[in-house]
Amino acid sequence: MAKNTAQPNMQPLVMKFGGTSVGSAEAITQAVNIVTSYHAEYPQLVVVASAMSGITNQLLACARDAADGNWKSYTQGISSIESTHMDTISALALSDGKRQALMADIQAIIKQLRNYCASIETMGEVTTRGLDAIASLGERMNVRQIAALLDEQGFACRTIEADEIIITDAAYQNARPLREQTRKRTRAVLDPLLKAGVIPVVTGFIGATEKGVTTTLGRGGSDYSAAILGDCLDAQAVWTWTDVDGVMTADPRIVPDARVIGRLSFDEVSEMAYFGAKVLHPKTMRPLIERNIPLWVKNTFNPDHPATCISNQPSQTFGKLSCVTAIRDVSLVTVRGKGMLGVPGVAARTFSAVADRNASVLMISQSSSEQSICFVIPSADQAEVITSLEVELAYELERGDIDAVHATPDVVIVTGIGAGMRRTPGVSAKIFSAVGAKDINIIAIAQGSSEYSISLVVDKKDADLTVRQIHTEVIINGKQ
Ligand code: ADP
Ligand code: ASP
Ligand code: MG
Repeated sequence: MAKNTAQPNMQPLVMKFGGTSVGSAEAITQAVNIVTSYHAEYPQLVVVASAMSGITNQLLACARDAADGNWKSYTQGISSIESTHMDTISALALSDGKRQALMADIQAIIKQLRNYCASIETMGEVTTRGLDAIASLGERMNVRQIAALLDEQGFACRTIEADEIIITDAAYQNARPLREQTRKRTRAVLDPLLKAGVIPVVTGFIGATEKGVTTTLGRGGSDYSAAILGDCLDAQAVWTWTDVDGVMTADPRIVPDARVIGRLSFDEVSEMAYFGAKVLHPKTMRPLIERNIPLWVKNTFNPDHPATCISNQPSQTFGKLSCVTAIRDVSLVTVRGKGMLGVPGVAARTFSAVADRNASVLMISQSSSEQSICFVIPSADQAEVITSLEVELAYELERGDIDAVHATPDVVIVTGIGAGMRRTPGVSAKIFSAVGAKDINIIAIAQGSSEYSISLVVDKKDADLTVRQIHTEVIINGKQ
């Protein structure tokens, strides 16, 4: 790891560690080494941490099994969460006294988990509020592990449970932060610590309502937590440490020759995250844009890599596509009929019927003849949305103005993104010819109004090939 000899930098720096980066004793040790190696250069350092990888999924599974009355499953789940943490603590380089104290601390949280699950089993159901209370426990356990190791190495630190500082509305599982309250609390709690050189180790992912009820910011929400704190603290930067070298031209699990992109704009990354690139939570960029706080995506296991810097500077990809993404588990809904031609209000009624079901529309495409409207929604909402549309449009369906409302399940949205394609003709042609060369059937098309993206809907079976074709032919080989 690079040694830091520069002058101390007195503006706060927020470092967030994702699940794999703190997913084992070795990873926690590496993360702590990163923090300690930068502390002299950045004395006002805030650490934000996720749960150990896989733990949030296991916690949520315990809650659901308890609601289903599946005692055996949820108690096994709790034991597995417990042993993951106990094995980790046994392998951390801690003194005996510290190890015992940490184990007792984590056992108290495991006991809380058992109590929550027993209550859920008795009630026979779990609310979204209950799911948030349980999901939050993974982060609460992990910040204690990280802080114990920092403390052992002689660094003053304090665990902070973000319910104390990130204040949100009560939209459980997808809570929205209340900016002013959050800023006030964050400054009141963190400023004195930072001024004293104490490293706050803050739980990612979680917040609380003004009444103090725990909420979560949505899956993968620790990135968002770090950005919120970066904004509140007027940080010089936010660094998210993960398990890849930066933001890449495609998901490296699908495209093995994906490359790291050195520089990207907030807009491009927002679009990427919205269209399924799992590397950052889709709302992460929002708090950073106004103050232009740069966000770096770095690799915990390869910290000397140049990484990716995201800021308000556009990427240097004139006329180019920066990356390709995919959103899975979505359905294409089509409202079709010759009688729709020129009838005002059908589109508005269609979308309000969808909104009534709280389903988010990920992409819209209308043919110019106005004979059909198609849009893409998460497959989980398909059945409810179709019923809602059939009720709303019952009169038109009966008269035959609308022939059918139907859903095509098992489709995928593949999106090409790049600020460089703005006002540059020909990029879409390259995409279509790349996809056409493999005889892939494109079911629908939409271009984002920002002109940063073009989306294609394809069958699930064609998704990976479509992503690879666009990657190879347009991003890598394309003479752009
Ligand atoms: P963390 O737990 O550190 O937040 P995540 O698993 O949430 O990490 O996100 C990082 C993962 O995102 C990578 O391991 C990679 O597989 C996946 N990923 C998907 N698309 C991209 C992309 N375009 N660039 C980089 N990583 C991507
Ligand atoms: N632990 C949470 C999750 O799995 C938050 C995060 O990973 O950022 O969704
Ligand atoms: Mg993540």
